[in-house]
Amino acid sequence: MKPAIAKIVVDIALDKEFDYRIPAQLADIVHVGSRVHVPFGARMTQGYVVGLAESSPHPQLKEIAEVVSKRPLLTDKILELTRWMGRYYCCPVELCVKCALPEVVRKSKISWKERQFVRPVKLTPDDLAKLAKRAPKQFHALEILRKTDGMFVVKLCEEARIDGTAVKVLAKKGFVELTDKIEERDPFGGEVFLPTEPLPLMPDQAQSLELCKQAIDATSDVSRLCESAAGAPHERRLAESAYKIPKPILIHGVTGSGKTEIYLQAIEHALRQGKDSIVLVPEISLTPQTVERFRARFPKQQITVLHSHLSDGERHDQWHKIRDGQSHIVIGARSAVFAPLPALGLIIVDEEHETSYKQDEAPRYNARDVAVVRGKLEHAAVVLGSATPAIESYYNAQRGRYVLSTLPHRVDHQKMPLMRIVDMKQEMLRQKGLHVLSGRLRDAIEARLAKNEQVILFLNRRGYATHMFCPKCGYVADCPNCSVKLTYHRKAAQLTCHLCGETRPAPKVCPNPDCRDPAIRYAGMGTEKVESAIHAAFPKARVQRMDSDIMTRKSLYREIFHDFRIGKIDILVGTQMIAKGLHFPNVTLVGIIHADMALHMPDFRAAERTFQLLVQVAGRAGRGDVEGEVIVQSFTPSHSAIQFARQHDYLGFYDQEIEFRQQLHYPPATRLVCLTLRAKTEEKAKFFTDALAREIRKHIGANDLVSEATPAPLAKIQNNYRYQVIARSPQIMRLTEAIAKVVTATKLPPDVLLAVDVDPVSLL
Ligand code: ADP
Ligand code: ZN
Repeated sequence: MKPAIAKIVVDIALDKEFDYRIPAQLADIVHVGSRVHVPFGARMTQGYVVGLAESSPHPQLKEIAEVVSKRPLLTDKILELTRWMGRYYCCPVELCVKCALPEVVRKSKISWKERQFVRPVKLTPDDLAKLAKRAPKQFHALEILRKTDGMFVVKLCEEARIDGTAVKVLAKKGFVELTDKIEERDPFGGEVFLPTEPLPLMPDQAQSLELCKQAIDATSDVSRLCESAAGAPHERRLAESAYKIPKPILIHGVTGSGKTEIYLQAIEHALRQGKDSIVLVPEISLTPQTVERFRARFPKQQITVLHSHLSDGERHDQWHKIRDGQSHIVIGARSAVFAPLPALGLIIVDEEHETSYKQDEAPRYNARDVAVVRGKLEHAAVVLGSATPAIESYYNAQRGRYVLSTLPHRVDHQKMPLMRIVDMKQEMLRQKGLHVLSGRLRDAIEARLAKNEQVILFLNRRGYATHMFCPKCGYVADCPNCSVKLTYHRKAAQLTCHLCGETRPAPKVCPNPDCRDPAIRYAGMGTEKVESAIHAAFPKARVQRMDSDIMTRKSLYREIFHDFRIGKIDILVGTQMIAKGLHFPNVTLVGIIHADMALHMPDFRAAERTFQLLVQVAGRAGRGDVEGEVIVQSFTPSHSAIQFARQHDYLGFYDQEIEFRQQLHYPPATRLVCLTLRAKTEEKAKFFTDALAREIRKHIGANDLVSEATPAPLAKIQNNYRYQVIARSPQIMRLTEAIAKVVTATKLPPDVLLAVDVDPVSLL
């Protein structure tokens, strides 16, 4: 018997499933995952079928009005994934569903673009001869067309220099056939890549690839068995347990050890087994070189790049192409983890430690962790890669939850760049004050420029100075809306808040009405200051700054990289924008202007972030034939994060860090949930956070801990006061269940907003 009831999550309602009756005429086309129109209250709304049932406890159900798309947009596996996300991340399931489907697909406002297509038909030599005589232009067009299987009318008109009416005449005469055909909107239309061949692997790489291949093969076996047991849940379970679903593989490979080549060959292996792959990269626009390598290796029609710059039409086409099984490799940032590939066999998460995998609004999911769960649900191999794995991931590998594969050397045994640390306290004494460049860095830049080599300078803060103050009265220019100082941008002559955007002209005298002293000072430094210090020290060098202040055009990023690659730029100064997956053979010196910047963040991951950033940035040096050098300027040169980075000693750092985390009950030794409340007054924020903390305490297990309500480190943003409670538990699912229960039962006033962040990547 067909199920009579559909469980539906509607777009506008809270975290709830509603029962609807399935009318007989729709019985064949309502499936789990179908997009439907349903009456809701007095109006109609859209929703998804998330389950089917024989009966419902509710009498008097309404009926589904219409099915929007014949084929379900969500596969049942992706639905299962979104359900898991809802539970794990304490988030309404419809938000998770929204996340899994791009808006153009969800709202189905856009459809395929259809254009007129013309095909040749069989003709007699007689016909052709007549046409050649009477209408030589049409004949010429026909000649062009007959060399093909058909083409879009616009294209034929262009090539044969005729207009549309001529084609219509040809069709009327019966010489050609006109139809409508879908034309795919291709975001990369004209781009061509020189195809690359798989490289013969180094022994470490080969071992690592072998692990990936085994995992892919094993998952294929499980899938096959499950398919043959389709519909029989018991047999399916047997099949799943008979073949162990392989564990995720963590590839810990130093920068330049050839991880990308392993990914490429693993994907190729999956393709040969008829399996599709997803590749997650931290940010598409910041990793152009990585993306290019994938596009150069595989035929264009097999690969889809999900880019945030796609137009709605392009996104629609790409998504449906994936859903229809016409694309076999999907590359994208975070949300590509939901790509609906029908035969998923492999998910790769490149730079798995990157915090951009975490979404900073609900659902606050981490795409790396969702990838691991999706791999389990869909029997796909999961490969995580990094030169500096997240402490959590390495911990998982050590505990046997992931399989570890280590690549300790650069390809061809190129040396790791030499890292020198400059003590800036000493340097301040020597130079009588703080300068952007230490003597050592300055000399090194000079030497490299003399040899026509290139330099990257890194400072993770934009603007000119980090704050303005008056030495006379002590005035400091704070943001009126946020608990941070305003940043000085010299070119724009403005003070700006990097949190809320508050901007005002930079004052000439102290803004304090009782002071008005002209001797105001700007302290601290940003990339703009580095740029001008370089100009002053090396007037002939061609310097380019790269940070979000100057990235006013989307294409600028690629243009600058292009110029840098072809040697039009000597020195690139930038923020973390230039820290990721870039590869310039002529860069022999990397300078890190202020290595301790992230160290003093009030966050338990401060040391980890600093270590990762140093190693990643240093990894940009010496990727060609010349050995690279890295100069690190620091006020705390003896800090362990800096010392371990200097030795390229991930394990040393990990061992020390894990001990610290264990002692202080931080992840991965325990799991965290951070609840942040925002309110218009501090009293309100504190009151409701206190109440929430008390309530959660009533529901937790014996080994769980719930902190007091405290102001968040960023206590005010955009005039909202922020309070936090941090809950810890060795068993995260139990904790999130308890929290979800409390949160659902708690009625907060409309102007008090709560964010629940499970496995937070930042506690600010
Ligand atoms: P990672 O991703 O670990 O930083 P890459 O995959 O970018 O490393 O490799 C670094 C460089 O070495 C690239 O230019 C790549 O083409 C090259 N490479 C990788 N594997 C090999 C190999 N087996 N033989 C020769 N060159 C290789
Ligand atoms: Zn502000």
